[in-house]
Amino acid sequence: MLREDAVPAEDQIYNWIEEVFRQGVRRPGYPADRWAEQWIQDRFREFGLEGVRAEPVVTPYWEPLRSSLVAVRTNGTEAEIPCLALPFSSPSHSEAPLVALDGGAVNGAIAFCELPLLRVPHAWYESRATWQFDPDGSFVTASQLLPTTLPGQQAMESAIAAGACGFVGVLAGHPGNLCEYYVPYDGKPRSIPGVWISGQDGERLKSWLAEGPLVARLKVDARRASITSFNIVGELPGGDDEAVIVGSHHDGPWASAVEDGSGIALVLAQAAYWSRVPPTERPHRLIFLLNGGHMSGGTGQAEFVRSHRDELEHVVLEVHLEHAASEVSEVGGELHPTGRPETRWWFTSRIPRLEAAVREAIEAEDLRRSYILPPTAFREKPTTDAANFYPAGVPVVN
Ligand SMILES: [Zn+2]
Repeated sequence: MLREDAVPAEDQIYNWIEEVFRQGVRRPGYPADRWAEQWIQDRFREFGLEGVRAEPVVTPYWEPLRSSLVAVRTNGTEAEIPCLALPFSSPSHSEAPLVALDGGAVNGAIAFCELPLLRVPHAWYESRATWQFDPDGSFVTASQLLPTTLPGQQAMESAIAAGACGFVGVLAGHPGNLCEYYVPYDGKPRSIPGVWISGQDGERLKSWLAEGPLVARLKVDARRASITSFNIVGELPGGDDEAVIVGSHHDGPWASAVEDGSGIALVLAQAAYWSRVPPTERPHRLIFLLNGGHMSGGTGQAEFVRSHRDELEHVVLEVHLEHAASEVSEVGGELHPTGRPETRWWFTSRIPRLEAAVREAIEAEDLRRSYILPPTAFREKPTTDAANFYPAGVPVVN
């Protein structure tokens, strides 16, 4: 039975998101993420959680400093193109011909290629979902724009394999025509420098390339290091020794209200609610978890699963709350909310009682535009910050 009076007010939940957002860029090890690690522990203690702690996680650190890309045409004119270094690319510089990457070798050249975002037709999800809730029919003939895909995470690999000494990726058709794109975030160092440029600047380079050869001067200045991030944990005793973990991650690519300011706020809301409910009414022991290192290859979740493996047999469910968001569309180069929620994916273990519980909750709370997806809908594990719980045998709702 839900205790309505124990549910935090909507204003409170939004205020948490705003407070996190106000701290600025929250990449692993940045001051805003250090602030979040402390602030979340303070909130957990304020709610009366027990065992509040910060568990260390060795995490790759990336801090872009000044990077630059200059295109030099055969007539001698030079143009500096605004750019952002690809995370974990090599902090070094290259000067070489700019050559389009088209499947062949580009030995000694700076490779140039476009990375459009993927638009996934809802019909594709329907072929994989075990259930959907879309009473307005909003999925019919529609599609969802994905912020990242595997080709994006691996954009530099084909350039490196083709012998390139540098990489220029064009964010073709990305909303807002920006060069700011924090991908890849697998935390793996790359052997060559690389930058993203906007779709419009990509068009300029393409038109110059059509007129004659181009030389590019590419320089990535950045700090790559290894740091210690922290997973923040707090617990509430329940009616028995089995446990439910409720998690998300505290770092993000930018100030990131969605990735994952909303996740932090949803975990805090759960912790606040359950702290106001008597232990006998809690389903099990509750473990609240906000991971570090998500933007550096998901080191936090991987470390939690590794270091708590012996305790996972008592975990009857891992609920991970990420990316609650409004849908936006681009109109005349500007982003506008459509007034609808973004499509909700509920990666749910194929356990009939669990799937039924998720279905009932979605309908009871009228969470439209929802899909229940098998954890393996896209890959061998869910594409979430709780990915490793699934192969460890823990039932999941992510
Ligand atoms: Zn996230």
